[in-house]
Amino acid sequence: MPNLTRNELLSKGNALPKFIETELGKEKLCIECQEYWPLDHEFWFTYRNKPNKKGERTIGYEAACKCCYGIRYRPQKQKGTGQIKSYFERGGEF
Ligand SMILES: [Zn+2]
Repeated sequence: MPNLTRNELLSKGNALPKFIETELGKEKLCIECQEYWPLDHEFWFTYRNKPNKKGERTIGYEAACKCCYGIRYRPQKQKGTGQIKSYFERGGEF
């Protein structure tokens, strides 16, 4: 199994466009799941960009979709206090 680095993968033409136009409108690529989702706050966490020179505030979209956001930005976060442990970690008790 060859151990490819990220750059090697990209150089093989796997880089997808960040945005695509579909008949339903513009869609954005999630950098985590590599799926395209409509540019909508239902699918993306949004933030307000700083005003540009004209004083207009545009909406920014995070690079990962809502589903992947936690995976991407909070890999250490545990849900709740009761962590799920494997049987092995619990000492083999069933
Ligand atoms: Zn995603």
